[in-house]
Amino acid sequence: MHRPHIVILGAGYGGIVTALNLQKKLNANEAQITLVNKEDYHYQAAWLHENAAGSLHHDQLRIPIRDIINEKKINFILDKVVSIKPEEKKIKLEDQTITYDILIIALGFESEMPENHGLEENAFFIGDINSARLIREHLEYNFACYHNEDVKNNGRLNIVIGGGGPTGVEFAGELVDRIPEICKEYDVEKALVRIIMLESEATILPAVDESLQQYATNSLASRGVEIITGATIKECNADTITYEKDGILEVIPTVTKIWTAGVRANSLVIKSGLQTKDGKVAVTGEMKAPDFQDIFVVGDCANVIDQKSGKAFNPTAQITVQQAALVAYNVVAMIKGNKLKTFEPRIKGMVVCLGSHDGIGQIFNKRKLFGWKAPLAKRLVDTQYLLKLGGLSLALKKGKFKFLNS
Ligand SMILES: Cc1cc2nc3c(=O)[nH]c(=O)nc-3n(C[C@H](O)[C@H](O)[C@H](O)COP(=O)(O)OP(=O)(O)OC[C@H]3O[C@@H](n4cnc5c(N)ncnc54)[C@H](O)[C@@H]3O)c2cc1C
Repeated sequence: MHRPHIVILGAGYGGIVTALNLQKKLNANEAQITLVNKEDYHYQAAWLHENAAGSLHHDQLRIPIRDIINEKKINFILDKVVSIKPEEKKIKLEDQTITYDILIIALGFESEMPENHGLEENAFFIGDINSARLIREHLEYNFACYHNEDVKNNGRLNIVIGGGGPTGVEFAGELVDRIPEICKEYDVEKALVRIIMLESEATILPAVDESLQQYATNSLASRGVEIITGATIKECNADTITYEKDGILEVIPTVTKIWTAGVRANSLVIKSGLQTKDGKVAVTGEMKAPDFQDIFVVGDCANVIDQKSGKAFNPTAQITVQQAALVAYNVVAMIKGNKLKTFEPRIKGMVVCLGSHDGIGQIFNKRKLFGWKAPLAKRLVDTQYLLKLGGLSLALKKGKFKFLNS
């Protein structure tokens, strides 16, 4: 292949790690590399719940793309992908159309909300920096309104989280830490604020071990979170949310509903006509789109089956970064005529934080973490990621260890 044009769509975990690996492995005369992203920054989506709660400023989680790529090797296009045309090898952006020889799709996730319940119109979703910042501003605005109205509206102080999976639980943990500060700022009595979590299953964090579920439930409940399990959301409008539990409908007055219970792949992949399974591209072992030798897919857009369980792996940054490294390897192998490798994930564990000083986790398959060790483990992983991305200076600037960035 004569100096192929490699195009990477998206600069989240999958796209940026693929780009940085290709930048290291290929000389400018071996390939032309283009990276497309709709923002001029990379951000760590795994920190967004902190941004949404207001405990972490968005500048801490975003990194200007031009600061970490070598622009002599990578052409960065700041633009929005509008459509992907695999048959024509074309990508339509808002401002131009580009062609490729090898394509890497890393466009991430979107919210998946039940239809016709009013959630799309009336609930927030933690999807990117813009949506997380909106939640933070909305929370503060409603606390600020509270004392400016003659008739007190408690719906301004009721925060309802739809879903008790990892994102909902982590967001609740951050809110519990953050609410006392907001109350102080707006002279609102803390006892008036309610954080309510609605989960349709019999427990929160249904995918984790029972002792971890129990610890998380106790930790949140003891800090005031009302956890309602077996609750199905029936209707959501501007001022209320209605759920059903044991056949009885309950209405909660609230202007703040945050949906955390479902994500799906960026809808551009479905519209592209690539073969999908459960809304994601059903990739081959080499992380290629079926029927297309020149298209790779990474991260939340890819459906990767765990050979042991037969189920798809959960979408995580951990697995995305590993896929990105493999895709970069395979792209180089393709160009140099070498054998491609098959993706074999190395799951090191999972951690769910319950605020900045508490959490649960399971690492190296068996070892359980409770309490402060969990957020510490997550910070170590985050710091390791930043070190890989931009070396010590980036870890010092953006890392979460206070002694690193004070
Ligand atoms: C609140 C929260 C907490 C999480 N916590 C964890 C955790 O603790 N551990 C973990 O492993 N995982 C966690 N995850 C999951 C993890 O963030 C995702 O699995 C990961 O972000 C997937 O990476 P990605 O590269 O596929 O997509 P993303 O990181 O979403 O990147 C997609 C990129 O594509 C860009 N883009 C999207 N559409 C377009 C377009 N049309 N045109 C141009 N650019 C576009 C976006 O701007 C973005 O830069 C969490 C997710 C959330 C939301």
